[in-house]
Amino acid sequence: MSRIRGIEAKLIKIQKDRLPDLDSRSNKYVEIKKKNEESFEYKSDVENDQITDLLLKLPKLTKIFDVHKKIGEGTFSSVYLGSLKQHAALPDVQKRWFAIKHLVPTAHPARIEHELRCLRDMGGKDNVIGVELCLRNLDTIVFVMPYIPHRKFSEYLGDMDAEEVRQYMYALLVALRHVHSFGVIHRDVKPSNFLYDRENRRYLLVDFGLAQRASSEPPPAALEAPRKRPRELDECTNDAKRMALDLSLGARGAAAAPVAPRRPFLPKVQIPKHNIPKVNPGACGCAGAGGVCTACAARPAARAPRAGTQGFRPPEVLLKSPRQGTRVDTWAAGVVLASLLTARYPFFRAADDVSALAELADLLGTEPLRRAAHALGRRIVTSSRRRGLCLRKLAARLRGPAPPPAPPPAPPPCAHCRLPAPHCLCRDDARPADAIDAAATVAGFPDAAFALAAKLLEPLPAERYSAQRALDHPFLAAPAPRSGE
Ligand code: ADP
Ligand code: MG
Ligand code: ZN
Repeated sequence: MSRIRGIEAKLIKIQKDRLPDLDSRSNKYVEIKKKNEESFEYKSDVENDQITDLLLKLPKLTKIFDVHKKIGEGTFSSVYLGSLKQHAALPDVQKRWFAIKHLVPTAHPARIEHELRCLRDMGGKDNVIGVELCLRNLDTIVFVMPYIPHRKFSEYLGDMDAEEVRQYMYALLVALRHVHSFGVIHRDVKPSNFLYDRENRRYLLVDFGLAQRASSEPPPAALEAPRKRPRELDECTNDAKRMALDLSLGARGAAAAPVAPRRPFLPKVQIPKHNIPKVNPGACGCAGAGGVCTACAARPAARAPRAGTQGFRPPEVLLKSPRQGTRVDTWAAGVVLASLLTARYPFFRAADDVSALAELADLLGTEPLRRAAHALGRRIVTSSRRRGLCLRKLAARLRGPAPPPAPPPAPPPCAHCRLPAPHCLCRDDARPADAIDAAATVAGFPDAAFALAAKLLEPLPAERYSAQRALDHPFLAAPAPRSGE
């Protein structure tokens, strides 16, 4: 494989090493385990056993790499730090380091293949992780990728200044622009998938395990280019397309399926004929009532892709809209920016989709969310109206000192929340959230940073900024003024 450097390997068609027979296997086990335990890094017994087990199941890995310790664990994988065996005698600074991602054996082969193809076709450029090597023996599969040292987001988000936040967001959006130019949605943009080497200001978007073809968008320029597309890219996108279809099976054949009248916004799902309740147009009155009418109860559940991480899902995913595109990722980038501006992580904490929508209504206001839902063919009914919060006020409150108790007589309270001015967090009626006051700073950040957050956290995907538009936004296009300037 042309992308694989310096190491003899075959991608995908990896030679299947046979496992050694039981006796020698147990000898080998003791030998590998002993060597593993003698290595200098501290490891728990469990970690030791996991590494030993991996090395035993994948003899090729043992031949090429020293596996040092576990550096990450996700839902679908464990990630280990590795270095080349041939570099064993070198001092650490001269070694080449790798992240070795061991995929859980229960992961679907199509999913693994798709992740690998995405890494290979898009990776290694524009802050997107590449792959050096893939090894497989039976159901044991590892991706070997360049290693980037990084710390947890929560350890540094509080002390990043405006310029560092600008650079971080710029790097993230460059990575997203690159991925989106292939017509691919990453779907799991969040700090633990965007690794930041703070010392060297290096960034890597990792984890294409949930990546998907953006089916609702026109073919992106990168795929329309006259140059011949690599076959693999075709396969990658086809795979992604297939995956997208699989995830929204319920939407298939919808055109032919009869649906209840007067519900043009309902998800197009196949309803068995005998299940279709006879409803008079407009007869359903359960919205807002305590209960669900039989007509609504008989309706099948909406199905749409919802892969991603709670707290980073945009309204179109929470509302199960089948129309999902690359703006799913720019929303998540907006959540990351909101975290950076307010120094709160996680920014949204809801445990389920309905509570997540309630959190969005709190931040954005019930009306903008209701309008977005309507445009997506969904209806949101809330028991109360929320005006939404002002991210600027929120950041100032969360980062700054607590406001002094209001002196008596208290200033006139806010007409909406009835709190005195310093305590009110309501959205500003007079000034749109995306307006920029070039001279103003809020909580140490230029006003433009909040304006960009408003464009990324736009509930309606069609109006939400793309990665390219975000990169052109004044906050990212120009270096932030130093505080005091
Ligand atoms: P999962 O699909 O299981 O979430 P990821 O690819 O996100 O797997 O990796 C899990 C974790 O492993 C990451 O959050 C990160 O801490 C670590 N990791 C992954 N790739 C690298 C890398 N190239 N360099 C350093 N650490 C990495
Ligand atoms: Mg991950
Ligand atoms: Zn108020």
